[in-house]
Amino acid sequence: MHAYDTAGDDTNPTRRVIVPAGRGSAVDVRRGQTLRVVNTSGTQVVDLWAHTRDEPGEYLGLSQCREVLQRIHFRPGDTLSTNRYRACLTVVDDTSGIDHDTLIAPCRTEMYLNVGLPGTHRSCTANHAQALPRWPSADPPQPWNLFMTAEVVPGGRIVYGRPPFRPGMYVELRAEMDLVLVVSSCPDDHYPTNGGDGSPRDFEILVDP
Ligand SMILES: [Zn+2]
Repeated sequence: MHAYDTAGDDTNPTRRVIVPAGRGSAVDVRRGQTLRVVNTSGTQVVDLWAHTRDEPGEYLGLSQCREVLQRIHFRPGDTLSTNRYRACLTVVDDTSGIDHDTLIAPCRTEMYLNVGLPGTHRSCTANHAQALPRWPSADPPQPWNLFMTAEVVPGGRIVYGRPPFRPGMYVELRAEMDLVLVVSSCPDDHYPTNGGDGSPRDFEILVDP
């Protein structure tokens, strides 16, 4: 019995998941499996969460990772831990050259309203809720914002930047426990973090058998 239900099938693992532009998806991965988050367009920010399969309320803990690693950016070779300090994911490879943001909250309806955009704007928070309907809160954990540049410069100011436009760049991760990954093609067109014209793009997840 798993804490979360997804569309995944344990006996026939999904090998390739296309996440549509501006949408989210939940992907089952088992301990030992390797997965790639492929930035097909080279412009798309991907919000990533990892929830443990068997322990409700245990998930990839960004603040715990920053504490343990003593860095705000994660690199190949780093083991990422849950909010309960269990090894969760290992960063295997990263072809992007980006210091993926670990600080900025996932976009949500109220954020768009706060900057004068319509409350009907799609959001990563809503994508998380739709992908993982059993998550018991309207507030998801802090995501790892893959391919998102939010550089902290001297003085503590945050400078947003666009992805470097490398179509096909990817981050490869190994699951250290059974997980449900939730990913979102961030639809944010307010901050300059998505490249191109700012409109969301498809990306894909490849999961080793
Ligand atoms: Zn977003």
